[in-house]
Amino acid sequence: MARVVLLAGGNTGDVKRTLQSAQQLVNDRVGAVLRCSHRYESEPWGFSGARFSNQALEVSTDLAPEEVLDAVQRIECELGRNRAAETLEKARTGAAYVSRPIDIDILFYDDAVIRSERLTVPHPRLAEREFALVPLCEIMRGRRHPVSGLTVAQMLDALRAQSSEQPCGK
Ligand code: AMP
Repeated sequence: MARVVLLAGGNTGDVKRTLQSAQQLVNDRVGAVLRCSHRYESEPWGFSGARFSNQALEVSTDLAPEEVLDAVQRIECELGRNRAAETLEKARTGAAYVSRPIDIDILFYDDAVIRSERLTVPHPRLAEREFALVPLCEIMRGRRHPVSGLTVAQMLDALRAQSSEQPCGK
């Protein structure tokens, strides 16, 4: 049994309902949801669009890391995520990210450090994403990153200190 930590978020459609469905499907297919944060709203990252709602989930699973990725990608697809349309939209706008009804990232898988073609765990951009660290902090503020050794709360403090040092908060 492993403990996997997921971040589910979205910014189109009925996001509250989609996140509820995602949580139910994760519980059915990945494993028991042990803890989940509230939903937190944030501005989109890397493009302009509707605000995102994000939620962190801790899940007990028998699946291997890439099987978790397969399961969450299938859930995203069933909940209306269309990667082909997103690719076209990215090409049209030149943006790295676009609006989506649901996105589920794997933040941690036990203390595993994984760098495969399909999967990087812990999530490579976790330390720079306040929208991921805030919900995570609610359910596991003392959890340590297996590479940096920083707790989730320390990562959030470091990120906030760094952004307040930048002129005009950029
Ligand atoms: P997405 O954020 O859903 O657009 O993810 C794009 C790609 O990131 C996916 O096709 C995954 O193969 C890859 N990926 C790498 N590491 C992760 C991770 N920790 N969680 C989710 N997707 C990941």
